[in-house]
Amino acid sequence: MVDMDPLPALRDVIASLGLSAKKSFGQNFLLDFNLTRRIARASGKIDGFTVIEIGPGPGGLTRALFMEGARQVVVVESDLRFKPVLNAISDTYPGRLHVVMGDALKTPLQSHIDGPCVIIANLPYNVATALLINWLKTDPWPPWFERMTLMFQKEVAARIVAEPGQKAYGRLSVLSNFRCHTQTLFDINPKAFTPPPKVTSTLVELIPKIPQVDAPDIGDLEAVTRAAFSQRRKMLRSSLKTIFPRPLQILKLAEIEPDWRAEQVDLAGFCRLAHHLHQEKNG
Ligand code: SAM
Repeated sequence: MVDMDPLPALRDVIASLGLSAKKSFGQNFLLDFNLTRRIARASGKIDGFTVIEIGPGPGGLTRALFMEGARQVVVVESDLRFKPVLNAISDTYPGRLHVVMGDALKTPLQSHIDGPCVIIANLPYNVATALLINWLKTDPWPPWFERMTLMFQKEVAARIVAEPGQKAYGRLSVLSNFRCHTQTLFDINPKAFTPPPKVTSTLVELIPKIPQVDAPDIGDLEAVTRAAFSQRRKMLRSSLKTIFPRPLQILKLAEIEPDWRAEQVDLAGFCRLAHHLHQEKNG
């Protein structure tokens, strides 16, 4: 851990390069090292780890990760304007920062990793859910990363950690909690960002679970949750017609009441439905 790096203040970096935030890239920057270092510390042990960071922008979180002891950081940034700033950070930490310029949704990350790895990011909100679902669908599971600490809009964070019966409970809650132990860590006020977004942000921790021997295929789980929640006000005996020819029979076998709505079914219930879907598909 170091007190401060020798690089210029983030506001000066942005001003000197004339880097205005672009909405199309979901850019809201954290320029206060007290906050980015707090995020790095809340992410648990990073000393000796490779950290994957999506969307470093001007590098506030990247620099905090190094200050807090990350062995190596791999960043994926799609806005080419940030290349010189990221190269300057790389020069300060020789051989420890790997910069990948490209779309994180299309960039295979695993090839950049040797040793234990965590994902830590203030995610671009326009692709945050898509990125999370990709990581949750990693095959094989447990995955190549030991932990994810990710910043989302508060309402997306609420969906990730939601439990049955809660308004925010949905497909994202089921898939996230099937794969990971999830918890929210803390909220961040819009005023902490430059420019401030319209909504509060929340840092979420996701720690991969060891799968149970009888765990269903995540693709089947995704299909049943999509069918159930895409018509969330309907009873399951009706909404599941899109994937099961005889939903009443399947619901009985899965020990789920046919007049329940999707939000009443817990993770174990959805796993039973996913097993039945698998059987129906494979005979
Ligand atoms: N990490 C910086 C911070 O905390 O100040 C910036 C976070 S900003 C919310 C999101 C960053 O993700 C921006 O730098 C943006 O250019 C980048 N970004 C947006 N879409 C991306 C994508 N598909 N792949 C990689 N980076 C992306």
